Amino acid sequence: MCQALKDKVALVTGGSRGIGRAVCQELASCGCEVYVNFSSRVEAAQETVDICASVGGRAQVLGFNVADSAAVDAAVETIRQKSGRLDILVNNAGITVDGLMIRMKDEDWARVLQTNLSGAMYCARAAARLMVKARAGRIINISSIVGQMGNAGQASYCASKAGLIGLTKSMARELAGRGILVNAVAPGFIETDMTSALDEKVKAEHFKSIPLGRYGSAQDIARVVTFLAGEGAQYITGQVVGVNGGMYM
Ligand code: NAP
Repeated sequence: MCQALKDKVALVTGGSRGIGRAVCQELASCGCEVYVNFSSRVEAAQETVDICASVGGRAQVLGFNVADSAAVDAAVETIRQKSGRLDILVNNAGITVDGLMIRMKDEDWARVLQTNLSGAMYCARAAARLMVKARAGRIINISSIVGQMGNAGQASYCASKAGLIGLTKSMARELAGRGILVNAVAPGFIETDMTSALDEKVKAEHFKSIPLGRYGSAQDIARVVTFLAGEGAQYITGQVVGVNGGMYM
């Protein structure tokens, strides 16, 4: 099914853990050469590389902070020098600093927006410069169900994820003529480090609102990302694909 992804070059931000790791594994198992980005946990990123190798794929770590535009440009230049091109970008790196909006500190607001939204734009901008020359490419932004619905206690995170949807649609329109497809995936409640920190009562509340009756797995998201990167998605751009067990319709 993923034959067309063989030998494509992919960059996955935040590939060291959770959803990003599963995306790296899935792309590597289809034959992509994967750059596994991380910000601080190099051992975790190396573990992802080992997992990619265990499924017969090729991967290497590429640490940089997505919120630092100069570091992003340098990293994409490294990919250009080593691999000659970049076919797939998955903007997955993300953080959350939860708390009520009324008490939100300026620096917490700024950090979440800078990482989740500006970081994705920096990576897309740098990647698109290479993709435009190739007149082909796929950019997949990992948004969130709460970017569509809102969530009390997560104003900065929701704003960043809603912003990613606007960014996705604008980039899709700007880049369509160059053969570059841009889509967003909006996961629901996925079991990763990010959600394991939540209070059990909060988790139980979320659980009740999932018609499919289970939390999502990182692989549920990775499969959809891989579809959007592949041959079957040739006529899909500017879309937000909800992968949420029916939690938001
Ligand atoms: P996670 O387990 O907390 O992993 C976050 C990843 O992002 C890590 O690889 C981390 O690197 C990386 N990262 C954080 N800040 C970074 C930065 N400034 N530069 C580069 N990398 C950075 O998160 P997850 O649950 O897998 O979520 C992945 C994405 O899906 C996020 O964008 C999240 O908002 C979104 N999402 C998650 C859920 C969910 O239920 N889990 C739902 C909807 C959307 P280190 O390992 O080096 O720290």
